[in-house]
Order: sequence, then structure tokens, then C-alpha cells
Amino acid sequence: MNSLAPELLELLVCPREKQPLSQENDFLVCPQKHRYRVIEGIPILLVSEARQTHIEGGRSLQVAEDGDAAQLPQFVVGPGEIDPFVANAIGATNGSLYQHLVGKLKEYPIPHLRLARGSGASFLEIGCNWGRWCIAAARLGYQPVGIDPSLKAIRAARRVAQQLGIRAVYLVADGRYLPFPDTAFDQVFSYSVLQHLYKNDVRSVLTEICRVLHPGGEARVQMPNVFGVRCLYHQIRRGFRDASDFEVRYWTMNELLATFGELIGPAQVSVDGYFSLNAQISDVRFLPRRYRALVYASEGLRRLSESLHALVYVADSLYVTASRQN
Ligand SMILES: [Zn+2]
Repeated sequence: MNSLAPELLELLVCPREKQPLSQENDFLVCPQKHRYRVIEGIPILLVSEARQTHIEGGRSLQVAEDGDAAQLPQFVVGPGEIDPFVANAIGATNGSLYQHLVGKLKEYPIPHLRLARGSGASFLEIGCNWGRWCIAAARLGYQPVGIDPSLKAIRAARRVAQQLGIRAVYLVADGRYLPFPDTAFDQVFSYSVLQHLYKNDVRSVLTEICRVLHPGGEARVQMPNVFGVRCLYHQIRRGFRDASDFEVRYWTMNELLATFGELIGPAQVSVDGYFSLNAQISDVRFLPRRYRALVYASEGLRRLSESLHALVYVADSLYVTASRQN
């Protein structure tokens, strides 16, 4: 139950000093004797002495310390049913326009991933939660690996992938301490995750992304724009004070371009959407009529921004794309 497939073990290194891991009973162990518990076949590769970026990171570490998988809730999800974790988490993972769907989903909202076909390329998602983007990536021909600090979310991601017949690898890990060797990935992706971190933590994540990217590989990261119409409204509501805990941190375009450019490589910014963070056009059938007009308007503006680049300045949700050079 708890032994890892050799090809998975080969993909992993110690998240602290990046040396290879080997399995000893229910633990992965590095030559420096760092130990990481494996729960239900899921390695918990968090750095216990680090401040956790998400409350669920601390909870995952607690389960790893107790080593008691029996205390975890067991879900049986029948064909056509929605995983109970996803049914509840949908408002948190997909944004405020999805609140009405909590407990009421009839199918999984799998977004359209705006990337070229994968043709077997390796794909790492940072902060994958229940795996909607990894599923989209697998369907586009990528080999996805999803990490998240939440063991609950990773367990759900595994159940959903199994239910949908998706091949993906999911682990508990932290974007600031990636448990992968250098140059392991062709594509790195993250959506609605780094916006919740302190800017110094984002810098750590970007440094790690660059390390694990293959030369010529690309990172694509969704971020919120400080001058987005809806983003400005939220900042006014909280009086432009600094964000705390899990609140959204807003970035200027120049800040994004300079930071990604410095830490990964040549960077550019494109529009993900307007008026929210961010409803997907592929999900429009899930949304009530009053939100649909908003999502269509957002998509219209996004398309227009491809020829009228100035529109990027007032978009709420941006994609930053950066390529590693060598
Ligand atoms: Zn180690």
C-alpha cells in the first residue's frame, strides 16, 4: 500500500538539499537523514521547520507525525457522483462566482488550459488542490505532476483522477521547496495560488520553478493585476492596507515582468480575464444567468486584448509567461 512505484521515487529528491530519496518502511529518507512519511502511498514532502504558507500544510505535517492513516476520512465515490471534497471546496478553489455551486455540482468543471498540445511533455502544477488543471493538462497530452500542501486536497485529486481515468501524479509538497531534481519539467503552471503568498515567498517559488525547468521550458503563472477594475475595488474596500494571511496580494505589471524576468527568464504578460479572479469561459454553463454576461464580456475583452495590447493594463487576472534560457 505504502511502497512507491520506482518511477515515482526516481522523480523525487529531498526538498531541503535536493539529494535522492530511498524508501525505508513508511518513510522516504535522504542521505542527510531527513525523513518524510508516506501516507496511503502519498509522500508528505513538506519542510517541517519552515513557516507553512497554508493552514493545511500544518495539518498535513500533523498527520505525517501521527502516522495514523486510519484517522483520515474514507470516501467512496460512485460512478457519476461528485467527490464530496470537491463538492465543498469548489467555492474556494474556483472563486466567488462559484459559491452557489457548493454542494450542488453535477459534473467536474474542467477548465480549458490555454497551452499548445503536450505530446508527452512533463507538466508540474504548483498548488493543484483537487487537480482541475492537471486533468486539463492530461487531456491535452501532458504528463502532469500536481503538488499541494493539503493532504486532503491531494487525496481528493487522486480519487478524482481515478474516477475520470486520468494519469497524473499527486504529492504533498511546497512550491518554495520543490522535491524534484534540476531540469525535470518542460512546463510549470500555477493558477490562483501565488497571489496568496508573501512576495518574498513568491520569489522563493519562482527560483525553484527556474531550477526544475528544462532549458527552453516555460512557466505560466496566473497573477492578479493591481490595476484591474475588480482588483482595485477590492483594494479600496480594504483601504489599501497590506494583505495578511491568505488575502490576495496585488502586483503591478512592471513588478511581475521584472520579478519573473530576474528569477526565470524573459517574461511577458497576457490577459486571463476581467471582473473576477477568474471565472472560466469553459465553465459558463455552470454559472447563473447574472454571471454569464460578465464571463462573456471578460472573454470578449480577452480576445480583443490579443490585438489591442493596452487592454492588458486593466485586466484583473493575468498570465505571466517566462522561459528558462539555459
Ligand atoms: Zn535531505
